[in-house]
Amino acid sequence: MKLEEYKVYFSFPDARILWWRFSNTKGPVKVDVYRSQSPEELEKIAENVEEPFYYDMVPVSDRFVNFYYKIVAKDDISQVESEPTLLPFPPHPIAKSVVKMERHYLEKFIKRRANYYIRKRYGERCIYCWDEIKMRTVKENCENCYGTGFVGGYYKPIGIYIQIMPLVRASVLSPIGETKPDETQAWMSNFPLATPGDLIVEVDLGYRWRVVASTPFVFQGYITRQDLRLSLIDVDAIEYKLDRRTEP
Ligand SMILES: [Zn+2]
Repeated sequence: MKLEEYKVYFSFPDARILWWRFSNTKGPVKVDVYRSQSPEELEKIAENVEEPFYYDMVPVSDRFVNFYYKIVAKDDISQVESEPTLLPFPPHPIAKSVVKMERHYLEKFIKRRANYYIRKRYGERCIYCWDEIKMRTVKENCENCYGTGFVGGYYKPIGIYIQIMPLVRASVLSPIGETKPDETQAWMSNFPLATPGDLIVEVDLGYRWRVVASTPFVFQGYITRQDLRLSLIDVDAIEYKLDRRTEP
Protein backbone atom coordinates (compact mmCIF):
# COMPACT_ATOMS: atom_id res chain seq x y z
CA MET A 1 0.00 0.00 0.00
CA LYS A 2 1.04 3.60 -0.52
CA LEU A 3 0.39 6.78 1.48
CA GLU A 4 -0.88 9.22 -1.15
CA GLU A 5 -1.76 12.19 0.99
CA TYR A 6 -1.21 13.19 4.62
CA LYS A 7 -2.26 16.53 6.09
CA VAL A 8 -2.27 18.00 9.58
CA TYR A 9 -4.38 21.11 9.94
CA PHE A 10 -6.19 23.22 12.48
CA SER A 11 -9.94 23.40 13.03
CA PHE A 12 -12.01 25.40 15.50
CA PRO A 13 -12.05 25.12 18.52
CA ASP A 14 -8.44 24.17 19.16
CA ALA A 15 -8.62 20.81 17.44
CA ARG A 16 -6.00 19.39 15.15
CA ILE A 17 -7.17 17.28 12.28
CA LEU A 18 -5.08 14.58 10.69
CA TRP A 19 -6.18 13.58 7.23
CA TRP A 20 -4.85 10.78 5.03
CA ARG A 21 -5.43 8.86 1.86
CA PHE A 22 -3.94 5.56 0.65
CA SER A 23 -3.78 3.72 -2.63
CA ASN A 24 -3.06 0.13 -3.68
CA THR A 25 -4.43 -1.29 -0.45
CA LYS A 26 -5.27 -4.92 0.15
CA GLY A 27 -8.16 -5.63 2.53
CA PRO A 28 -9.14 -3.50 5.54
CA VAL A 29 -6.80 -0.68 6.60
CA LYS A 30 -6.10 0.15 10.27
CA VAL A 31 -4.22 3.27 11.32
CA ASP A 32 -2.33 4.04 14.54
CA VAL A 33 -1.78 7.70 15.44
CA TYR A 34 1.24 9.06 17.31
CA ARG A 35 1.82 12.47 18.85
CA SER A 36 4.68 14.28 20.53
CA GLN A 37 6.30 17.63 21.13
CA SER A 38 9.46 16.15 19.72
CA PRO A 39 9.67 14.29 16.40
CA GLU A 40 11.96 11.74 18.05
CA GLU A 41 9.78 10.47 20.92
CA LEU A 42 6.28 9.82 19.72
CA GLU A 43 3.53 8.44 21.89
CA LYS A 44 0.63 6.36 20.55
CA ILE A 45 -2.68 8.22 21.04
CA ALA A 46 -5.06 6.14 18.93
CA GLU A 47 -5.20 2.63 17.55
CA ASN A 48 -6.91 0.86 14.67
CA VAL A 49 -8.61 3.95 13.27
CA GLU A 50 -10.72 3.00 10.24
CA GLU A 51 -11.91 6.46 9.16
CA PRO A 52 -9.60 8.47 6.90
CA PHE A 53 -9.05 11.13 9.58
CA TYR A 54 -8.37 11.69 13.26
CA TYR A 55 -9.63 14.61 15.35
CA ASP A 56 -7.23 15.46 18.20
CA MET A 57 -8.89 17.55 20.90
CA VAL A 58 -5.86 17.97 23.17
CA PRO A 59 -6.26 21.31 24.95
CA VAL A 60 -3.44 23.72 24.21
CA SER A 61 -3.26 26.92 26.19
CA ASP A 62 -0.10 28.21 24.60
CA ARG A 63 -0.29 28.60 20.84
CA PHE A 64 3.48 28.18 20.59
CA VAL A 65 3.30 24.62 21.85
CA ASN A 66 3.70 22.44 18.80
CA PHE A 67 2.82 18.84 18.24
CA TYR A 68 4.22 16.42 15.73
CA TYR A 69 1.92 13.73 14.39
CA LYS A 70 2.77 10.52 12.69
CA ILE A 71 0.58 7.71 11.38
CA VAL A 72 1.35 4.04 10.89
CA ALA A 73 -1.07 2.11 8.69
CA LYS A 74 -1.42 -1.61 8.03
CA ASP A 75 -3.41 -3.58 5.50
CA ASP A 76 -3.41 -7.34 4.85
CA ILE A 77 0.03 -7.43 3.30
CA SER A 78 2.01 -4.29 4.11
CA GLN A 79 2.64 -1.36 6.42
CA VAL A 80 3.37 2.30 5.70
CA GLU A 81 4.21 5.23 7.94
CA SER A 82 4.31 8.98 7.51
CA GLU A 83 7.04 11.37 8.52
CA PRO A 84 6.41 13.14 11.83
CA THR A 85 4.46 16.19 10.67
CA LEU A 86 3.84 19.54 12.28
CA LEU A 87 1.18 22.13 11.54
CA PRO A 88 2.70 24.60 9.04
CA PHE A 89 3.11 27.01 11.96
CA PRO A 90 1.16 27.72 15.17
CA PRO A 91 -2.45 28.75 14.46
CA HIS A 92 -2.54 32.47 13.80
CA PRO A 93 -5.21 34.26 15.90
CA ILE A 94 -6.72 35.82 12.77
CA ALA A 95 -6.91 32.48 10.95
CA LYS A 96 -8.56 31.04 14.07
CA SER A 97 -11.15 33.80 14.23
CA VAL A 98 -11.94 33.49 10.51
CA VAL A 99 -12.74 29.79 11.04
CA LYS A 100 -14.75 30.64 14.16
CA MET A 101 -16.77 33.44 12.49
CA GLU A 102 -17.65 31.39 9.45
CA ARG A 103 -18.76 28.46 11.62
CA HIS A 104 -20.83 30.82 13.72
CA TYR A 105 -22.43 32.28 10.60
CA LEU A 106 -23.39 28.83 9.28
CA GLU A 107 -24.74 27.60 12.64
CA LYS A 108 -26.63 30.68 13.80
CA PHE A 109 -27.79 32.34 10.59
CA ILE A 110 -27.91 29.78 7.79
CA LYS A 111 -28.91 26.88 10.10
CA ARG A 112 -28.88 24.31 7.32
CA ARG A 113 -27.91 21.02 8.96
CA ALA A 114 -26.53 18.10 7.03
CA ASN A 115 -24.75 14.82 7.49
CA TYR A 116 -21.50 14.47 5.65
CA TYR A 117 -20.64 10.98 4.41
CA ILE A 118 -17.04 10.39 3.38
CA ARG A 119 -16.98 7.81 0.61
CA LYS A 120 -14.84 4.73 1.19
CA ARG A 121 -11.94 4.60 -1.24
CA TYR A 122 -10.13 1.62 0.19
CA GLY A 123 -10.79 -1.19 2.67
CA GLU A 124 -12.77 -4.37 2.60
CA ARG A 125 -14.33 -5.13 -0.79
CA CYS A 126 -18.05 -5.80 -1.15
CA ILE A 127 -18.68 -9.55 -1.42
CA TYR A 128 -21.99 -9.11 -3.27
CA CYS A 129 -20.99 -7.01 -6.24
CA TRP A 130 -17.22 -6.64 -6.50
CA ASP A 131 -15.63 -8.67 -9.25
CA GLU A 132 -11.96 -9.35 -8.40
CA ILE A 133 -11.11 -10.24 -11.99
CA LYS A 134 -12.89 -7.40 -13.74
CA MET A 135 -11.90 -5.04 -10.88
CA ARG A 136 -15.27 -3.33 -10.84
CA THR A 137 -18.77 -3.66 -9.40
CA VAL A 138 -20.96 -5.99 -11.44
CA LYS A 139 -24.34 -5.49 -9.79
CA GLU A 140 -26.52 -2.40 -9.93
CA ASN A 141 -28.05 -0.87 -6.81
CA CYS A 142 -26.10 -2.94 -4.31
CA GLU A 143 -27.36 -2.23 -0.79
CA ASN A 144 -24.23 -3.59 0.85
CA CYS A 145 -21.87 -0.98 -0.61
CA TYR A 146 -24.14 1.59 -2.31
CA GLY A 147 -22.25 1.25 -5.57
CA THR A 148 -18.81 2.01 -4.12
CA GLY A 149 -17.47 -1.56 -4.15
CA PHE A 150 -16.46 -1.28 -0.46
CA VAL A 151 -18.44 -2.73 2.47
CA GLY A 152 -20.84 -0.09 3.86
CA GLY A 153 -19.93 2.38 1.12
CA TYR A 154 -19.38 5.36 3.41
CA TYR A 155 -17.90 6.08 6.83
CA LYS A 156 -20.10 7.09 9.77
CA PRO A 157 -21.66 10.48 8.95
CA ILE A 158 -20.32 13.70 10.42
CA GLY A 159 -22.79 16.46 11.39
CA ILE A 160 -22.09 19.72 9.58
CA TYR A 161 -23.74 23.05 8.74
CA ILE A 162 -23.73 24.10 5.12
CA GLN A 163 -24.91 26.88 2.84
CA ILE A 164 -26.40 25.53 -0.41
CA MET A 165 -27.37 27.94 -3.17
CA PRO A 166 -30.69 27.52 -5.00
CA LEU A 167 -30.61 24.77 -7.59
CA VAL A 168 -29.93 25.93 -11.14
CA ARG A 169 -32.11 24.02 -13.59
CA ALA A 170 -30.04 24.69 -16.68
CA SER A 171 -31.11 23.64 -20.14
CA VAL A 172 -29.29 20.55 -21.34
CA LEU A 173 -29.28 22.03 -24.87
CA SER A 174 -27.35 25.11 -23.79
CA PRO A 175 -24.63 25.79 -26.39
CA ILE A 176 -22.23 26.82 -23.63
CA GLY A 177 -22.99 23.79 -21.48
CA GLU A 178 -21.16 25.28 -18.46
CA THR A 179 -23.74 24.27 -15.85
CA LYS A 180 -24.97 20.70 -15.85
CA PRO A 181 -28.56 20.02 -14.84
CA ASP A 182 -29.23 19.85 -11.10
CA GLU A 183 -25.90 21.22 -10.00
CA THR A 184 -25.35 24.02 -7.57
CA GLN A 185 -22.73 25.78 -5.44
CA ALA A 186 -22.35 25.41 -1.67
CA TRP A 187 -19.86 26.14 1.06
CA MET A 188 -18.99 24.66 4.45
CA SER A 189 -16.34 24.99 7.14
CA ASN A 190 -12.97 23.18 7.11
CA PHE A 191 -14.01 19.82 8.55
CA PRO A 192 -14.28 17.25 7.14
CA LEU A 193 -12.18 17.88 4.03
CA ALA A 194 -14.49 17.39 1.06
CA THR A 195 -13.52 15.12 -1.83
CA PRO A 196 -15.47 14.54 -5.05
CA GLY A 197 -17.63 11.43 -4.65
CA ASP A 198 -18.62 12.14 -1.04
CA LEU A 199 -22.29 12.43 -0.06
CA ILE A 200 -24.16 15.22 1.75
CA VAL A 201 -27.59 14.49 3.26
CA GLU A 202 -29.67 17.46 4.33
CA VAL A 203 -31.31 16.82 7.71
CA ASP A 204 -34.43 18.98 7.37
CA LEU A 205 -35.15 18.76 3.65
CA GLY A 206 -33.87 15.24 3.02
CA TYR A 207 -32.09 16.15 -0.21
CA ARG A 208 -29.04 14.10 -1.02
CA TRP A 209 -26.14 15.64 -2.87
CA ARG A 210 -22.97 14.29 -4.45
CA VAL A 211 -19.80 16.39 -4.10
CA VAL A 212 -18.62 17.07 -7.65
CA ALA A 213 -15.76 19.46 -6.88
CA SER A 214 -14.27 21.16 -3.85
CA THR A 215 -12.03 24.19 -3.46
CA PRO A 216 -10.44 24.87 -0.07
CA PHE A 217 -9.88 28.50 0.94
CA VAL A 218 -6.52 29.01 2.58
CA PHE A 219 -5.81 31.93 4.90
CA GLN A 220 -2.41 32.36 6.58
CA GLY A 221 -1.58 28.78 5.66
CA TYR A 222 -4.77 27.34 7.17
CA ILE A 223 -7.81 25.91 5.47
CA THR A 224 -10.67 28.11 6.67
CA ARG A 225 -13.59 27.00 4.50
CA GLN A 226 -14.45 24.97 1.41
CA ASP A 227 -16.43 25.90 -1.65
CA LEU A 228 -18.24 22.96 -3.21
CA ARG A 229 -20.03 22.08 -6.39
CA LEU A 230 -22.87 19.65 -5.68
CA SER A 231 -25.08 17.55 -7.85
CA LEU A 232 -28.55 16.50 -6.72
CA ILE A 233 -29.02 12.73 -6.55
CA ASP A 234 -32.18 11.23 -8.08
CA VAL A 235 -34.77 10.22 -5.48
CA ASP A 236 -34.87 6.65 -6.75
CA ALA A 237 -31.08 6.22 -6.51
CA ILE A 238 -29.56 3.72 -4.10
CA GLU A 239 -28.01 6.57 -2.04
CA TYR A 240 -31.47 7.35 -0.66
CA LYS A 241 -31.44 3.97 1.11
CA LEU A 242 -28.41 4.96 3.17
CA ASP A 243 -29.63 5.50 6.73
CA ARG A 244 -29.46 8.63 8.86
CA ARG A 245 -27.33 7.67 11.82
CA THR A 246 -26.38 10.96 13.47
CA GLU A 247 -27.67 14.46 13.91
CA PRO A 248 -25.23 17.37 14.10
ZN1 LIG B 1 -21.78 -4.06 -3.33
